[in-house]
Amino acid sequence: MDQDALRKQIAELRSRSAPLEWSGETFRQQCESALGPLAAFVEMAAGGPAFPEQSANPLSSQISSHLDPENPIHRLIASQLQLGTEHGSGGFLGFIPCGGLPAAALADLVTSVTNRYASFTHAAPGAAAAECEVIEWLCRLFGLGPDAWGVLTSGGTMATLNCLLAARESVDHVPVEKLAIYMTDQAHHCAARTLKTMGLHRSVRRIVGTDALYRMDVPELRRLVQEDVRLGMHPFLVVASAGTTNTGAIDPLDEIARVAREHKLWFHVDAAYGGFFMLCEEARPAFRGIEHADSIVVDPHKGLSMPMGTGVSLVRDGELLRKAVQEDADYLPHTQGAPPRLQRSPGDYSFELTRHNRAPRIRLSLDIFGEETFAAALSEKLLLANYLYRELNQVPGLTVLRDPQLTVVAFRRDTEPQTQQLWQSILRDGQIFVSPTRTRGEFWIRTCVLSFRTHIEHMEALVERVRAF
Ligand SMILES: *Cc1c(COP(=O)(O)O)cnc(C)c1O
Repeated sequence: MDQDALRKQIAELRSRSAPLEWSGETFRQQCESALGPLAAFVEMAAGGPAFPEQSANPLSSQISSHLDPENPIHRLIASQLQLGTEHGSGGFLGFIPCGGLPAAALADLVTSVTNRYASFTHAAPGAAAAECEVIEWLCRLFGLGPDAWGVLTSGGTMATLNCLLAARESVDHVPVEKLAIYMTDQAHHCAARTLKTMGLHRSVRRIVGTDALYRMDVPELRRLVQEDVRLGMHPFLVVASAGTTNTGAIDPLDEIARVAREHKLWFHVDAAYGGFFMLCEEARPAFRGIEHADSIVVDPHKGLSMPMGTGVSLVRDGELLRKAVQEDADYLPHTQGAPPRLQRSPGDYSFELTRHNRAPRIRLSLDIFGEETFAAALSEKLLLANYLYRELNQVPGLTVLRDPQLTVVAFRRDTEPQTQQLWQSILRDGQIFVSPTRTRGEFWIRTCVLSFRTHIEHMEALVERVRAF
């Protein structure tokens, strides 16, 4: 092919691919066409069904009057809202609710359109600094000390991977079969998944018992560690929970920290669900000892209602995290020396390389609302859970799991088939969604109160359904 023919072919392909390059005006029109149904969603989500699968009147049909089936964006919105469960509804009380603040979604629009390379300071100083500010804020919130650092991740599971990579780095010289790891049967399964991913399932796993409130039995932890020392093992890691998914239990962090210090264990705290209750003064005493953690996982997509895909790893020795996840590459610039804290490259502390620019979700939301607004929302959830706990305790024939420590309230009837029936009956009209679990051989319905859209009317709606049954 000669150069002229080549040019002709290039021009033809350019014109065929030209639709990809929207003009500013096209972009504006497309955004505007998306806004109608999205605004309707924002308006209706709080009172809309939590379980459209079951609902006679799903949200998608409520906003269908705003949808034009010829418009691809409208088709996308309609398909997103089909059936399933609706985390955006105030009645969503299953699993761990991820509310999805519209303000944070605006930040996503900005970061996706501008699409800067937020992993490296030299590529996007403003974007990288925004993440540094968020990490700095969280290191302070948890009192992790001057050397702590961390990184934003896609969620708690990826955050656990970063943290446990740093933990492994701290005992790099010890063969895997010698390492002993301690956790309770209430630890989130992401810990086991992470250990498997890292090949650490070949280490020794000790399951520590729990007390009546599902908290780690620390004297037993100490006994197990001492026994492993006698056996010539290397006690390595204790995985504690600050808010379990099952019951919201907070392990006795202060006492665990003491055992960890005595035996040089890596003290990891999974605060994916519970961590942001640290913003509430009244909840803080329950977290005492978290400041001694070697690593912490917390999920802004849970406690701060950020869009899904927002987790955080924090490590007391930030440099160890960097060493754990970094390898040099010829095609990447080297970081010379240690940059000032707010000029660090998030990519240096992350297992991911090219990554979603997540910090603006949190930065923009804090800028608009302030930390105290989130604290008030979470304090409201603590009181709502307390209110629900008391109401359910008044219902004859119901067993309510004792003394909720955060915002998980679990209840059951005498037998599993009866509890199954009650669960199905709560879900029947789709307004409220709660999910089940099993602990100590019992089948429970669990309620988790966390979304910024969940209020007293949702507690009343749940209690009404339980009573009606
Ligand atoms: C949700 C959760 C996780 C896992 O986080 P993802 O963001 O879903 O990956 C870990 N631990 C606890 C306690 C959780 O509630």
